Amino acid sequence: MSNPKPDNELTSRDLEIGCIATTPGSASVNRTGDWRSQRPEFATLRCIKCGLCALYCPEGCIVENAGGAFEANLYYCKGCGICSRECPILAVTMKEES
Ligand code: SF4
Ligand code: SF4
Repeated sequence: MSNPKPDNELTSRDLEIGCIATTPGSASVNRTGDWRSQRPEFATLRCIKCGLCALYCPEGCIVENAGGAFEANLYYCKGCGICSRECPILAVTMKEES
C-alpha cells in the first residue's frame, strides 16, 4: 500500500499489519531503516571501490555514488554493521544514531 500522508503524519493505523507489502513492487515504500540504532559512516575519500560492503550488505542498500565510491542508502540500512566488519581498509565506521 502506498501511503499518501507525509512521514510525520503517519500513525500505526495507516500501516499494514507487520508492514507487509500488499502490492507487487511496493516494498520500497516502507523505509525499513527507520528503527536503526546505529548508522554506517563511509569515508568515501579512502574507499578503494572494491564493492565488498555492497556484496555483503543483507539489505542490498549500499550503492555506488557518482565518484565510484560506495555509500549506504539510509532509508533502508538497518545498522547491522556487516559493511563495517567486511571493509578491508576500515573505511566504514558505525556511529550511534542521535
Ligand atoms: S549497516 Fe548493515 S544494512 Fe546498513 S549498509 Fe551496512 S551492511 Fe547494509
Ligand atoms: S568495502 Fe570499504 S573500500 Fe570496499 S567499496 Fe566498501 S567502503 Fe569502499
